[in-house]
Amino acid sequence: MLLELRHVDFKYEEPGSSLTALKDVNLAFDQGDFVAVIGPSGSGKSTLLMHLNGLLKPTDGRVLYKGKDIHAKWFDLKNLRCHVGMLFQFPEANLFGQTVYEDIAYGPANHGYSGKDLEKAVDRALRQVGLDPSLKIRSPFSLSGGEKRRVALAGILATNPQVLILDEPTAGLDPGNKESFLALLSKLNRQGTTVIMVSHELTEVSRVARRVVVISNGRIEADGPVRKILTGLDFW
Ligand code: ADP
Repeated sequence: MLLELRHVDFKYEEPGSSLTALKDVNLAFDQGDFVAVIGPSGSGKSTLLMHLNGLLKPTDGRVLYKGKDIHAKWFDLKNLRCHVGMLFQFPEANLFGQTVYEDIAYGPANHGYSGKDLEKAVDRALRQVGLDPSLKIRSPFSLSGGEKRRVALAGILATNPQVLILDEPTAGLDPGNKESFLALLSKLNRQGTTVIMVSHELTEVSRVARRVVVISNGRIEADGPVRKILTGLDFW
């Protein structure tokens, strides 16, 4: 198994209050899965995603990558984030470089890439997201909304992750860009990348995901093949 959550509880602790956002979550993701995580607003979807690459640590329970506890003392969490890449909501808001190259190179440079290897990683990532490498000299601010989101994804793909985690990856895109972004995710998945994405659009979920996880009030309510789960969602 590639990535597992075992009996994960998570509490947001604040002075004078505590909110349990995940309750006894058990999930396992295999190489090549395409999983959509769905559930009402505030049900724990983003909290769940942030456990998958160690941004949040379970209050109780364990997260395993290839069978190893990612919060064990000897485990290299920084290296895990090369293998488990995360695209936040509206990632283009975080583009900061003067050039597209600078933006895409940031992640791999932090993970030890340099010189020709770094250039190659940037070019490969641009091609993967369907953009021409000649774009790398442009300012990210001169790009269209769809191109910016692809550049943000390229920055994640540049470290060659095995798992791609995405929080509402098509939110705010126009229908054409939405369509082509989903096609891109499907292509990456066919090439072997495991995709785990939060979405609230059931039509897009039914088109691209093979498996659906339903979360409600911090608990996993259902987990199974997309057709089976979505046809059972009368309450939705
Ligand atoms: P979703 O992604 O499904 O909308 P979240 O994972 O963002 O849900 O939130 C789950 C619950 O945790 C909600 O009740 C939310 O208000 C709470 N929550 C999220 N982030 C924080 C935080 N930083 N501090 C305290 N509570 C939080």
